[in-house]
Amino acid sequence: MPGPGEYRPDPTEGITRIEDLPKPNLSFRSRNYRRRPCPHCGSSSYRDRRAHRTLHDLGDTLTGRPRDVVVLYSQHYCTRCRKYFNADMSDLAEPGSHYTRRVVNTAVRLVVEDGLPYRTASWSLWRDQRVFVPYATIQNWVEAGGEKGGASHPHRASRLGAGRLLGRHRGR
Ligand SMILES: [Zn+2]
Repeated sequence: MPGPGEYRPDPTEGITRIEDLPKPNLSFRSRNYRRRPCPHCGSSSYRDRRAHRTLHDLGDTLTGRPRDVVVLYSQHYCTRCRKYFNADMSDLAEPGSHYTRRVVNTAVRLVVEDGLPYRTASWSLWRDQRVFVPYATIQNWVEAGGEKGGASHPHRASRLGAGRLLGRHRGR
């Protein structure tokens, strides 16, 4: 926790509840399909129901408002595996994540490539991108090697590795 005298140049200082932040702009994405191949066996599976999730995205720097992406997606049932699965939306976000890939990538880059301490990266994301990410969350992302889909981004993955080896996250 920051000490009482610690300088934090943050216009949102005093805001301790995320509900007090400016209301986000909403944008909508669809990953809603009638049929999808089962990820386990490939069997074409009908939609069982629809659901949605909300992802925090990079905000609108012109209006200063955060942006949330609401993803409507289909859930399918494979009669062969007797399992439910969601339509693939890994291009937008990791499963279970509350943030878009863009946010994760930007945050990790601030720490690994720009060498910002976690708290500064958190503040920078809010100031420049209007997305509120607790610094501990950024730390988790960096320690997890950033984007988990690193296999499709080998260059980024290797830069991450190098950055961690060099300890650049300690700052310059
Ligand atoms: Zn299946």
